[in-house]
Amino acid sequence: MNLYMGKMLMVDLSAESVTTEPLRAEWLREYWGAWGLALRYYTDAVSPEIDPLAPENVVVIMTAPLCGTLVPLASRMCLVSKSPHTGTIFESNVGGSFGPELKYAGYDGIIIKGRASAPVFLKIDNDRVSLESAEHMTGQGIFETEKLMEAAIGAHGAKTLAIGPAAENMITYSMIGSESYRQFGRGGTGALFGSKNLKGIVCRGTGAVRVADMSRFLERTDHYTKNDLLCDDNLWAKTDGTPILVEVTNEMGIHPTRNYTKGFNGRKEQLNSDAIQAAKLGNRACASCPMACGKFTRVNSAEIEGPEYETLCLGGSNCDIHDLEAVIRFNRLCDDLGLDTMTCGSTISLAMEMTENGVHNFNLRFGQVDEYLKVVYEIATLSTERGRDLAKGAKHLAAKYGAEELSMEVKGLEMPAYEPRGNFGMGIAYATSERGACHLRAFPIFATDPHDIDALVSDVVDAQNANSIKWSLGFCDFWGTVNTSIEADLMSAGLGEAVSAEELDRAGERIWTLSRLFNLAAGFTAADDTLPKKIMERPLEGGRHEGRVFSRADLARAMQSYYELRDWSAKGIPSSRKLAALGLETTTL
Ligand code: SF4
Repeated sequence: MNLYMGKMLMVDLSAESVTTEPLRAEWLREYWGAWGLALRYYTDAVSPEIDPLAPENVVVIMTAPLCGTLVPLASRMCLVSKSPHTGTIFESNVGGSFGPELKYAGYDGIIIKGRASAPVFLKIDNDRVSLESAEHMTGQGIFETEKLMEAAIGAHGAKTLAIGPAAENMITYSMIGSESYRQFGRGGTGALFGSKNLKGIVCRGTGAVRVADMSRFLERTDHYTKNDLLCDDNLWAKTDGTPILVEVTNEMGIHPTRNYTKGFNGRKEQLNSDAIQAAKLGNRACASCPMACGKFTRVNSAEIEGPEYETLCLGGSNCDIHDLEAVIRFNRLCDDLGLDTMTCGSTISLAMEMTENGVHNFNLRFGQVDEYLKVVYEIATLSTERGRDLAKGAKHLAAKYGAEELSMEVKGLEMPAYEPRGNFGMGIAYATSERGACHLRAFPIFATDPHDIDALVSDVVDAQNANSIKWSLGFCDFWGTVNTSIEADLMSAGLGEAVSAEELDRAGERIWTLSRLFNLAAGFTAADDTLPKKIMERPLEGGRHEGRVFSRADLARAMQSYYELRDWSAKGIPSSRKLAALGLETTTL
């Protein structure tokens, strides 16, 4: 097959078996790859009521059709399952080179079910695939685990996915690390592996991805690289990377500070892009990427690839920590122990506010570095009472101590680092995202009027559909100007079949709608499309939008407009007309 390898790896950990199956070709022109195709496989395999941590649950890891080719910024790989943190459908994607390596080994994806009776890792060496004992890796951090797996396959440069102690302890915001410092983040991907006694996957592949017409494919790739990717709208990723957003969001008044109390950090210079550049050791790129947005930094003995913007804010300003060395140490601890930095930082900032408000004394205070760093280890290892409390995330921590008005999450997923009171579009994006508060489905921070609800609803719907297909084709978010016309042209050249922008647009909406159907069947309703109490009731302090709230009335108006635009009922249920238009009318979940 062109662009696809035509084969899936099927891993049953309970039966200790690994087999292969042909790729479901009948789904390709509707779901394409990565997010979409993984979602289609997942919804076919499980019931929406499934317990995410039960052996019967399935984890689908899927590459994308352009992954492993020379198309730049197109090698991301997705994981789809039900989140143990939120109970929603869940997609996470990772860059690096694991996706291309898996295709070079001959597989489009891996479907994992069951639970091993003792810790194992999956070894993929082209067509030699086996489950190996991981007993000697138990309790090891991600960095050491990846080294041990690489040694086990005997190939320097083999690509790895691994979990740390946080995931072994099934902490619901543990993550899977890849190739040191890359992650399947958010929603508890690590706990999914932990619940299956799967410590990691190592892969070596020596094959190649076939394209239909190599000279045309390379000509189109070169054309879009020169004329679209490497333009001013995207080059910030090469020069600054995500830390550039520290200045941008402060200027906009949407930079969360002190558990989303303020929208401006008066000490931002200590964590901004200039501070990162001063600490920078070098850059790092994912496969086939000329941008190399990853920045290795060091302050004294603390070293990391990062911190990215979300960590600088949620592990920095939002905890009132302005010491870059401390944020790097926090980032490194999370990356090695296997915790999502966003949820971890957000949960710590909540505990800081609860301590300072007298709700409960966690011995965590805004700006206090020592305990902030200590508690990360306590969370990952569940070694203290406060560690066990914070290991459940913001929603459960706030509920336990009756402080729901301080918990900054939607559908249980802690908010990213863009303040919705200063930009209603981000609030609409958080309220309607299928996996809870997320900035990777829609990102309307550059809207002309950040409080024009109707325009923002339209922007959010368009972006959600566009991102659904963009990530199904494996594109990185930082090719901000890529669109379905470019995607269709590249896919046509690679596949050797005509692909239209219209069918990709429709596929994006189909993927978004199928996610919605899953969540409805899992018990979520329109009442869950909401925002934290603090956002709706407490005026924002500091910055350009001081005094603003995103009121319940404004949110209700936004949701009405959103449902109407999507042709969903007032209860947020897709109409039968919409389902028929997307070919989902016979879908049963
Ligand atoms: S821009 Fe950054 S995250 Fe995106 S593919 Fe390139 S190196 Fe990876």
